[in-house]
Amino acid sequence: MEVLKTLIIGSGPAGYTAAIYAARADLNPVLYTGMEPGGQLTTTTEVDNFPGYPEGVDGPTMMVQLQQQAERFGTKVKIGFITKVELNTKQGEIHKAYTHEGTELLAQTIIISTGATAKYLGIPSEQRLRGGGVSACAVCDGFFYKGQEVAIVGGGDTAAEEATYLAKICSKVTMLVRKDQMRASKAMQHRVVNTPNIELRYNTEIDEVLGNQVVEGLRMRNNITSEVEEIQISGLFIAIGHQPNTSIFKGQLDMDDAGYLITKGKTTKTNCPGVFAAGDVQDKEYRQAVTAAGTGCMAALDAERYLQEVGEV
Ligand code: NDP
Repeated sequence: MEVLKTLIIGSGPAGYTAAIYAARADLNPVLYTGMEPGGQLTTTTEVDNFPGYPEGVDGPTMMVQLQQQAERFGTKVKIGFITKVELNTKQGEIHKAYTHEGTELLAQTIIISTGATAKYLGIPSEQRLRGGGVSACAVCDGFFYKGQEVAIVGGGDTAAEEATYLAKICSKVTMLVRKDQMRASKAMQHRVVNTPNIELRYNTEIDEVLGNQVVEGLRMRNNITSEVEEIQISGLFIAIGHQPNTSIFKGQLDMDDAGYLITKGKTTKTNCPGVFAAGDVQDKEYRQAVTAAGTGCMAALDAERYLQEVGEV
């Protein structure tokens, strides 16, 4: 049975960039796309902050182009997902992975770029208006609401950071926190409180996002007094956390409390020799396409060096 030099799991910017580098280094990578080929960027519209696209590019187009670039150098892209892995903890030993069809794959190195999934509230009106004014990424989509009023849900560091980011672009940001306090660090809370165009609403939850084709407003409820209020906004940002896609690695790879893979120092090395992690699956702080692509490049270089160390290239 063929032993792959490099198996890449995940098809966001991290996975495809790893594939471009690995293919050019003759590692003959095979990439499994996962259940959402192209990853989170396929759910956004315009990407304006990826270097090299002066006019911007829409997320799905960019992911197709990244795939084409990876394939140009010989990456085999497989539409499918990995359901189980058996990672070897000894230097130079082979790792196993199983596809959704039950096929066993053997690989000397594995690059994990399975990403993270933004959490949503789950109410029907929010789901219906995703892409129509409901977004889980202020840095990606905030610009579309320049000079307009928006709202953001969440009380963690992400929500606080995104609220202050939005406040620079938008005329007003209403921040909805479900408890009577924020979870964000004191420094971030301080920034939010001291930003004049952020209005903080504690103990507040969303009953319904208003609008047919696009977001026009919110119906929100104070969960102490049950008082209901409607406000007009044109964008709603959900910042209630992300779920890293790491369930198949539990018990085999080191993770933090939230399930993000832990990499060693400035490398993409996991605790398993020959297994590397890139992109949002190991990054809860930056979460940008360009930073994911950067770590994808690093993972391919780390994999190539590892194969040299164990005498395989
Ligand atoms: P967190 O899990 O820290 O916070 C999530 C927030 O969303 C909480 O306020 C939570 O409320 C709220 N929330 C969760 N579910 C709902 C819901 N259904 N309705 C309303 N509100 C909800 O996620 P973050 O993404 O903010 O941060 C993740 C990690 O990344 C943290 O460790 C954070 O410190 C780190 N981070 C660090 C940054 C930095 O250092 N610059 C920047 C961004 C993130 P409740 O408190 O009531 O549970």
